[in-house]
Amino acid sequence: MKIARILAYRVELPLHETTYKWSGGKSVTVFDSTIVQVDTDAGITGYGEVCPLGPFYLPAYADGVRAGLRELGPHLIGEDPRQLAKLNRKMDAALKGHPYVKSGIDMACWDILGHAAALPVCELMGGRFGADVTLYRAISQESPDQMAAKVAGYRAEGYRRFQLKVGGDPDVDIERIRAVADKLQTGDRLVADANTGWVQHEAIRVAKAVRDVDVYIEQPCLTYEECLAVRRQCEHPFILDETIDDLNILLRARADLAMDVVNLKISKLGGLTKTRQARDLCVSMGIGMTLEDSWGGDVVTAAIAHLAHSTPPEFLFTTTDFNSYVTVSTADGAPQRVNGRMAASTAPGLGISPKMSVLGKPVVRIV
Ligand code: MG
Repeated sequence: MKIARILAYRVELPLHETTYKWSGGKSVTVFDSTIVQVDTDAGITGYGEVCPLGPFYLPAYADGVRAGLRELGPHLIGEDPRQLAKLNRKMDAALKGHPYVKSGIDMACWDILGHAAALPVCELMGGRFGADVTLYRAISQESPDQMAAKVAGYRAEGYRRFQLKVGGDPDVDIERIRAVADKLQTGDRLVADANTGWVQHEAIRVAKAVRDVDVYIEQPCLTYEECLAVRRQCEHPFILDETIDDLNILLRARADLAMDVVNLKISKLGGLTKTRQARDLCVSMGIGMTLEDSWGGDVVTAAIAHLAHSTPPEFLFTTTDFNSYVTVSTADGAPQRVNGRMAASTAPGLGISPKMSVLGKPVVRIV
């Protein structure tokens, strides 16, 4: 089987809550997502999706996905999409870095492999654990009272894990953590995700000020070294995210005992192949995981579900249903949240069929 054609579509994904805000005054109102279609000479087609969290979260931006596909795509025509390790080596040889550009192609090729094998991706990635997986709900950055007021509604949707967007003024962040923690019930989990927004001394101050609160601290500072310094003075369970973008830094972080949980995002690592490798390593090393992506709609949510559902449950801290945050559905068959949980499709591949009327005309065409 050979890759015969690569197409990409640009889709706008507005938010039910109008805007999503996190550290440093960063926000997005309409997400710019790219859906990648890989056609083969065997008549099997696969789909992937890449949706950066704006241009200022990771070193990735929406037009960069499309520009990168135009650069990378011609090297992949004629390659076998089912031979994923080989395909990833080819992508890395043709385009240095830019993991997010490769993510949509890799995802689409897993979809093709699943269709070729007549198996869901989660079964190809190791097996389906249990009936479904636990979702978290991100609480966009607002005033402490506004954020605390959101918890009841999210709990009514079944969410029991809450990721609080902090990384602002440390004094206000202390209030945010306390206000939301007051709304928690037994069995809930709270994460204060600073998204690199604090400097080292502020992060230590916040952690000490909420020492009595049952909360995880996520990615307090910009650099790995700052985060490690905070970790060493912090009694809370600790999560690293933005700085963990490949296996080398993951192994270093393990050696330094720099985290208890790691947030692995599919496009940050460069696709499902590389994220699965990191996931399996974390299972072997006893590190919990949040498995997700930077953002996305139905296709990304389907890919996340397969990755999460094939992870031993004790290591899956939590995962995300981005398609429930956005107002536009781009595919049939994507996982739908049920009581704060979701399940990977039992259909072959990712188990989705894109709504071509929503995708419109392709903006990238490589033959
Ligand atoms: Mg995070």
